[in-house]
This record gives sequence, structure tokens and C-alpha cells, in this order.
Amino acid sequence: MTDLLIKGALLVDGTGAPARTADVAVSAGRIEAVGDLGGQAAAQVVEAGGRMVCPGFVDVHSHSDLALISNPRAHSKIRQGVTTEVLGNCGLGVLPLEAGTDTAALRAAVAFIDVDPAVDWAWRDLAGYRAALTAAGPSVNTASLVGHLPLRAAAVGFADRPATTSERARMCELLAAALDDGAVGLSTGLIYAPASYADEAELVTLAGVVAAYGGVFAWHLRDYTDGLAESVRQAVRVAEASGCRTQISHLAAVGRRNWGGVARALRLIEAADADVRADVYPYLAGSANLSQLLPGWAHDGGEAAMRRRLRDPRVRGRIRAEWADRWWDWPDVFVDGSPLATDDDALDLVAEGGNAVAMVAFGRSEDDLLAALAHPATVIGSDGFALDPAGPTGRGTPHPRSYGCYPRLLRHHVGPGRLTLEQAVHKCTGAPAKLFGLAGRGSIRAGAAADLLLLDLEKIEDLSTFAHPHRYPAGIDLVVVNGAVVIDDGVHTGARPGRVLRSQTEVNP
Ligand SMILES: [Zn+2]
Repeated sequence: MTDLLIKGALLVDGTGAPARTADVAVSAGRIEAVGDLGGQAAAQVVEAGGRMVCPGFVDVHSHSDLALISNPRAHSKIRQGVTTEVLGNCGLGVLPLEAGTDTAALRAAVAFIDVDPAVDWAWRDLAGYRAALTAAGPSVNTASLVGHLPLRAAAVGFADRPATTSERARMCELLAAALDDGAVGLSTGLIYAPASYADEAELVTLAGVVAAYGGVFAWHLRDYTDGLAESVRQAVRVAEASGCRTQISHLAAVGRRNWGGVARALRLIEAADADVRADVYPYLAGSANLSQLLPGWAHDGGEAAMRRRLRDPRVRGRIRAEWADRWWDWPDVFVDGSPLATDDDALDLVAEGGNAVAMVAFGRSEDDLLAALAHPATVIGSDGFALDPAGPTGRGTPHPRSYGCYPRLLRHHVGPGRLTLEQAVHKCTGAPAKLFGLAGRGSIRAGAAADLLLLDLEKIEDLSTFAHPHRYPAGIDLVVVNGAVVIDDGVHTGARPGRVLRSQTEVNP
């Protein structure tokens, strides 16, 4: 007996193929059949009435590593149609932890993703983290990248210096162990200490390990502002030297004086003699910790040392001098929903709250965003978290992408002169699933995992705003993960059928 039959849907199957009218049958967690299934009996029948059925969204740029343990129902992600999250982006991972790793210092370094202090880091490696995630039992599927920050913290610590030969070898061992255990690749965040202290040779060495496993190197550039082009060139050089498939994170040109930079970055990606792509989210503001605006040297020794340093008037004077030629204007930078006014506002906030102070920074160009969305080398990634408005992760004013990224894309970026519906869905499903080796996900065909959505394209809309982010979108009526209904008529059923996925990319011979 079929578990679920969706009848009379506009099927957009995730491959980029033209939309067509079809029924979709689900049984035992898989898609059983697609086509005209008129007389088929099923335990649950949903009349689509022309609404769209598509694969669940594969969010290749997630920071829910800790949020999903706090909030396994994954509210803000599942409600926007995300059924699989790729964790560990921007170098901000939660493993490996060596016996000697200062976990408190590492938590402070990755404070951006440490959204619930009650989550206990009771693991050492990917297997241990996977056990913690499995015990939490998320509603969404997950796959993990290895974060460069914990990798470097484990082997080198938090000092501003290149790794020695033996430290580099230790990083390679730890990385290979996680890749052996199913990690889908490595991520770096070259703006976040201590990953920012890596030289190019270290990046080429680590990328070589990832390439041997057929994984992806997700790459938060060293600079999205005045140095965007040179930073893209570096990612391309490392991809060419290592042969590693490379995904540039949240491609954007930041700061008004850098507008137009995305088109130049895309030309560098096109010219690469390697497989280089990018992810992007459809907003004109970014979000990161405010402390990333500080010069790299100010982070030397870790977060506690940075906060002490910021109380020294001579240090503050040196930072203010370096900031004289800055890419941002303080009125474009918001903390807790209010714009900053002066250098000292920012320095006081970081001295007090360290890396946990999150900013939302405006000052991006719509033309740059449209260029990034339109390019065939890009896929969609939210760069957000699975937040629960009623729980510990529902505080403050985070970037609205955690709630509205995918509905916003479909609402505002599909139509004449923009993406076709099929292209937009492909960038959220089939393309990212293929990139990360998630076999059997990201498309609707018989035998594939039954991760799928029923959407009302007339009503689809992101309702999360910069002022009021904790709001669910409209128009996502049904969300199915591994054949289980998680969102039914817009309501969470409590089902938590997510699986921890391993890379199934074929290893290069
Ligand atoms: Zn990120």
C-alpha cells in the first residue's frame, strides 16, 4: 500500500527539466512512482490542485551544527522547505577536538554558530558528533564538512603563525579520518582566526587530502571587500594546484565602493582550470560576528586575548588608524537591530561580548546579487541556522535568511528576465545534491529518497524581515522527509525523520 499520494501537481523535478503535471506516490521512505497514477490507493491522498511539487531544498551553506542539537525540529529551516543541511561551513565546525584542545577557546572562536550554551560538546570526532546529532534526532537530513578552525586549533592552537611541517601532517591525518568516516569535504573561513593564519601552502596541502576523497572544499574567502578579486584568485589557484572541487561561500561584493565586483569574480571562476562554483543567498545584507572587522593581528592568541587587548587605548588607536580607509559605513552595520555610529561603539561591543556579537551589514548592490543568482556556476545556500522562535535559539535579531532564504528566491527571483522556475528549483535541489555527493537526493524520480515539498506559488513569500526575523514564510504547505510528513498544512507534526548522510561521491582513481 502506498503511504502518500500527491495528485495533480505541477511537478518540478529538480533536474532542470520542464515542469509538467504529474502525481507522485511515496512508500517506505522512497518515491515509488511518478506520472499519471489515477486509480492508485494510498493511506494519505493530497490533492495538489495545481500547486508545485519539488524536491526538498538542499541547503549547502548551513551553520546548524549546534542549533540542531538545541532545536532538532529544525523549525526555521523545515518551514522554508529545507530537508537537508550541509553543516560545518565557513571553517566554523565543531570537530575534531584533540585531547589537548582548549574547548572553551574553540567555542569562543566559533561563537557565531554557538547559539545555545546548554549544548554540551561531548564528542571528539565526526563519529562522536554524529552520535550526538542522531540522539537529538533532527527533522532534517544532515551532511558534514570538516571545519578548518577546529582542525587548526587541534594541531596548532590559536597563535598567529604558519603551521610547522608536523602540525600540517597532523591536520591532514585528522581531516582524512573524518573524510574516511563520511564527511563531504572541508570548509575554511579565512577571515576567522585561527584559520585566517593559514598560508597558501597549508590550504593546498589540505585541499589535496579532500581531492583524494572526491570531496568539496567550501571556501569563505579572505576578503569580500576591496580584495575580492585577489581572494577569488587565491581560491582558484588552490583549486588548480590541488585538483579539489571548490565552492566559494556566499559570493558577494561587500561595501559600496566594491559594487560590480561579483561579475569580475564570476569571470575568474569561469576561467579557472578547475571545478570552481559558488553559493549565494538572495539578500542585500550579510551577517557575521562584528569582531571580523578587526585587523587579523587583533585576534592573536584567541578571543580572551583579543578582548583584553581592546581595553588598551594604544591598541584602539592603532585599530582606528587602520579603519580610516574602511569599506563600510557604520550606519550600514546593525547590532541587535540598531545601527552603530562610531568606531568606539564597535570596539566597546567586541571588548564586552567578544565573538558572540553578531552584526548585520548592508551596503551591497542588487546588480551584483542578480549576477550571482543568474550564473550557472552558483547554487543557493542560506548561510543560516535552524532556529526555534520559542526556544533558546529564538533570541535577538538574526539575519532573516534563517527563515526566508528559499521562499524569498522563489518570490522575487523567478520570472521574465530572472530565473525560470525550473532553474531556481535546480539551484536549490539537484545541483547542490550532486555537488556534495548526496546520491538519491535532490530530484523526484522513482527510487529516490522521498524528500519533497508541496508549495503554493501564488502564496509563497518570506515574511521574515531584518526588524522582525523570527517569522515563518507563507506558501509551504507540505514538507516530507524520508517519506514522513514533517509539515502538514503549514503545521509541524513533530516528526523527526532526518538521517545523517555520508558522502557517496566516487573517489577519483
Ligand atoms: Zn557561513
